[in-house]
Amino acid sequence: MDTILVVNAGSSSVKFQVYSVEGEGRLRRQIKGQIDGIGSRPRLRASGANGDPIADRAYPIEAIPDVPAAMGTAGEWLRNELRIHPIAVGHRVVHGGPDYDRPVLIDHGVVARLERFVTLAPLHQPHNLAPIRSILAGFPTLPQVACFDTAFHRTHSPLADHYAIPHQLHAEGVRRYGFHGLSYEYVASALTQIAPEIAKRRVIVAHLGSGASMCAMNQGRSVESTMGFTALDGLPMGTRPGQLDPGVVLYLISEKGMSAANVQNFLYRDCGLKGLSGVSNDMRELEASVDPKAKLAIDYFVYRIGLNAGMLAAALQGLDAFVFTAGIGENSANIRARVVEQLGWLGGALDPAENSRNSRLISGSDSRIPIYVVPTDEELMIAKHTLSLLMTRPTTNPRQERVS
Ligand code: AMP
Repeated sequence: MDTILVVNAGSSSVKFQVYSVEGEGRLRRQIKGQIDGIGSRPRLRASGANGDPIADRAYPIEAIPDVPAAMGTAGEWLRNELRIHPIAVGHRVVHGGPDYDRPVLIDHGVVARLERFVTLAPLHQPHNLAPIRSILAGFPTLPQVACFDTAFHRTHSPLADHYAIPHQLHAEGVRRYGFHGLSYEYVASALTQIAPEIAKRRVIVAHLGSGASMCAMNQGRSVESTMGFTALDGLPMGTRPGQLDPGVVLYLISEKGMSAANVQNFLYRDCGLKGLSGVSNDMRELEASVDPKAKLAIDYFVYRIGLNAGMLAAALQGLDAFVFTAGIGENSANIRARVVEQLGWLGGALDPAENSRNSRLISGSDSRIPIYVVPTDEELMIAKHTLSLLMTRPTTNPRQERVS
């Protein structure tokens, strides 16, 4: 069985999925797993195609001190115990910089170029690159593909790509990149199946998870996003503030004496729903809480989604559909109902029964625009890109490069 391994490595976890390649290039998820607690309490957990657990193992801290060690352990488990020898590996890489507008087959030159973007995404890029480097070293002939969160937004106009700062900084890479691109790309492709006519028109997609952003799409291409230079901008998130006057950062430095590292930690870990509520970064806990600050955090989340929908509708000069995706967007009927209320002036109206069932189409018959719930699948997107690059590259039979 030919398989593709998909890797999504973060600072303390390596998530992976294995897809089998079936007839006509169809992909079927066979295994979903992760090693989390890297450097603290490492644990490998995995489930099979039907969701049944197939592994749950704890490791001593010294066995898996870092991301390459976690990748090594996951790889050994797949090869030695499950006899899985992938024909290629697809990686989620958060930053493709200004140039990469699509996935790329990895070699040492690509890794060197991607290293340059570490300063643009210091919390993510080094961890994304670590397993790529260790696989390159251990299995140099195994094809690897980098899939970027920024690539889908490289269709933005120069206006949408700029900040009003001296041009030299833009040339250095200080631009409005936008993120969650693999999720938006998946939703755009799913829409071509669900509603082909709508997929060609003006659509706002709200990716509402622990990270949250919105994307304005026209004809399936990104024209604007709420995120910018980093994944801090735009909507409030689990622990990130979203849009913030840069003067607040100056205040933290000059009045609170915070170092750059402290400010970074604060903005990525202590703000957003968690900071505002003082209760939790988890929407389920906020919805269950009777604390007035939890209510404030939810109200703020919904309000900012409404404001940003107005901004994106202006970028699109109108709106033909709205889509919810990711953890909150796919599961919280309450948040969706409240967001659709905010969309009333844009013609949005809800069918409460369909909404409470998490149906695909949740707009009412009186809605001027259809409103959809489309579960995202970034890993499948990565697997598809990996297979397609593997098939189109000029090479010998990929089976000859299988790791044995
Ligand atoms: P993600 O990052 O896409 O996995 O989304 C994580 C977020 O989705 C967390 O804030 C969860 O609380 C939220 N979430 C998941 N399921 C539900 C649910 N049934 N109701 C409300 N929020 C949910």
